[in-house]
Amino acid sequence: MQTRLRSFNWPHLLLLLALWPYAALTAAAGWSPDAVLGAGTLGALLWLMLWERRLPQHQPWQALPAELARDGAFLGINAVAEALASALLMGLGIYWARYHATPGWAAELPPLLALPLALALGELGPFALHRLAHSRPWLWRIHSLHHHPAKLNAANSVLAHPLNVIWNKLARVLPWLLLGFEPQVMLWAALFIQVQGAAVHANIRGSLGPLDWLIGSAELHRWHHSALEGEAQNYGTAIPLWDQLFGSYLRRPRAQPKQLGLYARQAEMATNTLVA
Ligand SMILES: [Zn+2]
Repeated sequence: MQTRLRSFNWPHLLLLLALWPYAALTAAAGWSPDAVLGAGTLGALLWLMLWERRLPQHQPWQALPAELARDGAFLGINAVAEALASALLMGLGIYWARYHATPGWAAELPPLLALPLALALGELGPFALHRLAHSRPWLWRIHSLHHHPAKLNAANSVLAHPLNVIWNKLARVLPWLLLGFEPQVMLWAALFIQVQGAAVHANIRGSLGPLDWLIGSAELHRWHHSALEGEAQNYGTAIPLWDQLFGSYLRRPRAQPKQLGLYARQAEMATNTLVA
């Protein structure tokens, strides 16, 4: 029993539990959504990086100073990409509101129902595009940057092409805007998804046990970065629901891929698209 408790990924679970008081306190203090998301993501990254030092899953996956500098640069670049996507969404939101005076039906839902629904819908678009990005060379050319490292840690969770960041944000938020979810519900869902994006890449020992049937875990997401094609499943990050429904859910408790990085067909596809 003790071994089981020790092999549980407590830093991940505590981080998720801390999100709710954080969201309530920042709402009471009147923080803007961008400030809540930005500070929440940075805080989550620092928390995860601290625990990666104490409880690494795999020592060679620790980030080297040069890699931290690269990831820090991508954090900055992608913050600009996020801001661009936000500006685009705000413009679309204003346009939409001008022609649709009544709020969408999602505005009527109680928060306890609206939040899981927003999470599921917010994951669907990025999940579909992620699957496409693994099969369409022109999308793969953009997404493959995220798969290049042969290691996984919280810092390199931000290593992604800015266009990849923009399409994920648009695919997540547009359905929310069209269905009329409350701004607070969209913010909570976005915060959870963003923090999960960092947590599922973290090099922290332990599993979430049966909880990973419900929410994404590092143990699940490592398979997505496997260098063996058959293992590279689990396209969802925050929740595994769409993988479970579309047959790409791979769960192997207390195991990890032998090697991370591009698998053979991906490497070939990347080379072909670069030559094309
Ligand atoms: Zn991928």
